[in-house]
Parts: sequence; C-alpha cells; structure tokens
Amino acid sequence: MDKVNFYDFTMPKLEAYLMEKGYERFRAKQLFRWVYGQKTIDFALMTNMSKALRQELSEILDFNLPKMVSHLVSTDGTQKFLFDVGGETVESVLIPSEDRMTLCVSSEVGCNIACKFCFTGKQKLKMRLSVSQIMGQYLGAVKVLNDTVRISNIVFMGMGEPLDNPVSVFDAIENLHSPSGCNVSRKKITVSTSGIVPLMPLITKSRTRMAVSLNGANDAVRSFIMPINKKWPLAELLKACREYCDETGDKVTFEYVLLKGITDSIEDARELYRLTKNIPNKINIIPFNEHPGSGFERPAESQIVAFQQELIKLGAHVLRRKTMGRDIFAACGQLRSAYDGHPGRLELAQQGV
Ligand code: SF4
Repeated sequence: MDKVNFYDFTMPKLEAYLMEKGYERFRAKQLFRWVYGQKTIDFALMTNMSKALRQELSEILDFNLPKMVSHLVSTDGTQKFLFDVGGETVESVLIPSEDRMTLCVSSEVGCNIACKFCFTGKQKLKMRLSVSQIMGQYLGAVKVLNDTVRISNIVFMGMGEPLDNPVSVFDAIENLHSPSGCNVSRKKITVSTSGIVPLMPLITKSRTRMAVSLNGANDAVRSFIMPINKKWPLAELLKACREYCDETGDKVTFEYVLLKGITDSIEDARELYRLTKNIPNKINIIPFNEHPGSGFERPAESQIVAFQQELIKLGAHVLRRKTMGRDIFAACGQLRSAYDGHPGRLELAQQGV
C-alpha cells in the first residue's frame, strides 16, 4: 500500500484521515506532538502508543521531506538553500536584517504569471509544491542552521505565485502557525501576491500579512511589466487591498521594483504616492537586480535615492530593500538555473568562473 506523507496534513486533515482508517481522532494530536513538539519521526520512540499501533502507522505514514542539495552562504550573511522536490529544484533564501531573520520560501517550480522583470517568470510553471515540500523548506533550513540562527519571519515571496497554489500554501501556513506545529506567529508570516484578486481574501482569512507586488503606478506601465494587470487592473487590486486593511487592521506592503526609465522617475514616485495614499501601507522599493537576458536595467544610485526621497517628502512610509547575496545568485530562480542538475557548476560560478 502507498504511504501518505505526514507533513502533507494539517491536524484536522490528519484526524479525518486516521478516523477514516479506523483510528481514534486523538492519534493525530499524539503524532503532531512527537513530530513537531519532540522533533522525532522515529516510531520506536513514540512510546505512548502500543507497539502494534506504531507498526500499523509506520505502514501508512512516511516523513519524507525534500533533500537539500545545495546550501550557499553569502559574504553579507544571506544564505540560499536549494531543495530537490522530485527531480525539480526550488530555492529558499534566508535574509538577515537588523531585527529579524527572514526565510523566503517558494510555492511553485517556475511560474505562469510571467512578470517581465522576474527570472522565475521566464521558467514556465512546472509544478505546484505540496504542503510537505513547502514545510520542508522551513524544516530543512531550521535543521541546517542548528540553533545558530533562529528564523523569525517567513515570507512566501520565492519562486511561484502563492495564490496559484492556495490549498498547499494555506495548509502549510496552518502548520507553520499552529501551536501544535511550528508555532510561528501569524503576524510573522507574509504572503506576497502579484494580484490574483479573487483569491486575495484567503490572505485576509489566514490572518497573515499581505504583500502586493505592485511595480507600476498606472495601468499602462503595470500591464506592460505584469500581464496579470490586464485581467485584474489596479482599481480592483487596490480595492482588495483596502478590504484586507479594513478587516485585519493591518497595513499592506507594496513591493515596487525600480526599473531604469520605466518605473523610476520622480513623476512615477508621485503617481505611486497618489495611488496608495488612502490605503494603510508601507512601500518597499526594490532596485532591480540585473540578470542576463532580462532586458531591464537597474537605475543609477542617485535616481534610486531621489525616488525614495520624493516618497518620503510626500509622507509615504517607504523602505528600500537592500540587494543581498549578490555572490550567491541574488535573483530568485537563479540558483536553481545554475544548479540545473550539475552541482559542480555552483562552485565554479561562485568563484566567478
Ligand atoms: S514575480 Fe512572482 S508572480 Fe511574477 S513571475 Fe516572478 S515568481 Fe511569478
């Protein structure tokens, strides 16, 4: 009989599964305590269950997590992890800052949203990750960091559009947050979307933080760099943001990538401010991380500073995201491409060969 993966279940789903198999509901809670609480997956140690029961459970459950195939550490402290998810690979990135350690996780291999500035968007969707493949990125990073670093925040901002894989993403969030799971506060988990408007209420319902990849201050520019805007234009997107703020009392984070000559003018900054000023928000400006074949350029430093200053002058809450991990394939999806089944290339690429 095929086994099912323990990490693919939330507690209610495991309860339902075990009951369907004829076991008591509370067995799910016992298993969660052993695996997430006591951090053991060894049935021999689960001594509050009979030997016979442990034997039966071991025949229907496994605890497989994606294998970490690469772990790179940047000179600036950023760390990149690459996981094998059944022949494909996905990236997670640990980003240190003054007051937090943020793990950025992936939800898909490739992505169909096709934002023009995005490296991952050039790799068509190959698979949506399962709950265990998402959980595995967090658990794998925790394991390799081995208490030297504590992950304080988790952002769904890696490869893929989280709302294109909502069941796995929100089940994983349930396990990451649940006190019976990894016990990470909902307020420390952020889901970033390119703007699949009808599904944005799922972020509200999960009580996590919402980030929106905005990147254009009017429909013409945004539709040019993010084709999804043609389907759900800015007016609809911002309405969904406002509803999130009204219901949760939280701010939304707008991500805004600065592309030379396209989104980086002072008039763009003013338009961005006018567009967002009535929604409780903060704006993260992200100077474009150049990668081969993108067709876009990073603005000059003076232009980046002027753009940010203009927003500050207008009264926006604006932060600039630092480019980190340049020496370890900074653009999301680049490490995966470099790996491409040839781990040796990573060392060569790191040496600048
Ligand atoms: S920015 Fe996000 S949504 Fe857009 S193509 Fe890249 S991974 Fe997909």
